[in-house]
Amino acid sequence: MVSTMDYTRFLSDVAKGRQATILRDLFKLQLQDEEDWIYLIGGLPNAAYFPFTSGTLKMADGDALEITPPLMVDSLQYGNTIGYSPLLKQLTSLTQRLHDPPCWHHRDLMMTMGSQDGLDKAFNMLVNPGDFVLVEEPCYSAVISSLLPYQVRFLPVETDAEGMKPEALRAVLSRWNPQEAREATKDFPKFLYTNPTGANPSGGVLGEARRREIYAIACEYNFLILEDDPYYLQVYLENPPPSFLKLDAECRVLRFDSFSKTLGGGLRVGYTTGAKALVDKMMLHAQVSNQCVSLMSQVVVSELLRKWGEDGFLKHSHNITLFYKQQRDAIVASAEKYLKGLCEWAVPAGGLFLWLKVTCLKDTTGMLLERAKKRKLVLVPGNAFMTDPAKPCPFIRVSFSFNTIHMLDEVVFRSE
Ligand code: PMP
Repeated sequence: MVSTMDYTRFLSDVAKGRQATILRDLFKLQLQDEEDWIYLIGGLPNAAYFPFTSGTLKMADGDALEITPPLMVDSLQYGNTIGYSPLLKQLTSLTQRLHDPPCWHHRDLMMTMGSQDGLDKAFNMLVNPGDFVLVEEPCYSAVISSLLPYQVRFLPVETDAEGMKPEALRAVLSRWNPQEAREATKDFPKFLYTNPTGANPSGGVLGEARRREIYAIACEYNFLILEDDPYYLQVYLENPPPSFLKLDAECRVLRFDSFSKTLGGGLRVGYTTGAKALVDKMMLHAQVSNQCVSLMSQVVVSELLRKWGEDGFLKHSHNITLFYKQQRDAIVASAEKYLKGLCEWAVPAGGLFLWLKVTCLKDTTGMLLERAKKRKLVLVPGNAFMTDPAKPCPFIRVSFSFNTIHMLDEVVFRSE
């Protein structure tokens, strides 16, 4: 099945125009750094003048992460565009353990500067002005902001507390005949964007049956699925559903992972997994934009994963999840105490946000936000997550990741 996928029909004109540079393969040779070879290419700075030779990062648990002399100096150099190879190996192993994606040999994994960078490069690779794009609604606001300048035609798909509704997706697609959509070269929906686990802003986790049905619809209409999953490890359910990547028998999923929520957003380390043909196009873009993800950041992540092992990293992620679960419980308890009758909400099954519907209001912009500010509260109005921000929207998004439990109670009390 996979070999019949024609990815060129998904590519934007910009991506079609991206070609490998003459220097690309030569640089790969230089970065191999073989002993008796002489390299006369590239503008690699001479490491003799790098200011650091080794480093010790003191850890929160009292331990320390040592970056030893050759590695520290190497990490100050430019890196391969695809990523630091020891880290790529570690992430390949982690991906196989967590998702066990079918047909691994058709896929590649590249490092990105957080998942936002991966998404932005994917949009640049896929979207021509006027293209149809399926997005869940409400939708992560930065995705809407990223896609708006492409003048896409948004096809918003309704969600409920369990994420995107497959029947709503079918209803949106009903203007196409599946056979025509499958073969069309223009005016067809190219991809579906979803943040399926602990969605930002709704906190929903898309159930397994829905995932399977949505994946089947993607195969029927021949569109890609962009699975943005930075909260994949922050799920408060006993049995989290499988990722789209795990279900991806046809190699039509581009998956975006991030260390921002588990190790720190300032590292700017994430990774994208998908069909080689697509990842390669994203790499051609990276070569002429960021060139590589900070090698220093990648080395820190890689050394930490080596020190902790996969089990240690997953344990760390699990501890974070337990912490956020307490935060989630606290804000829901405060909402029960102060907001009953004023707002409606679903208990977030993952992620970092409570999505409140203010029952007595048609729109939360304007007066409500002004009143909140007077009480020294800053909230995000729901229309920031809508494809048509001009439409009145009765929701607000409240983050429960950062404040202490006492503060969360105060937040909800002040919102009353
Ligand atoms: N996708 C979603 C759904 C997010 O909530 C965020 C972070 N707010 C991102 C992507 C971007 O995260 P990163 O720091 O990995 O770029």
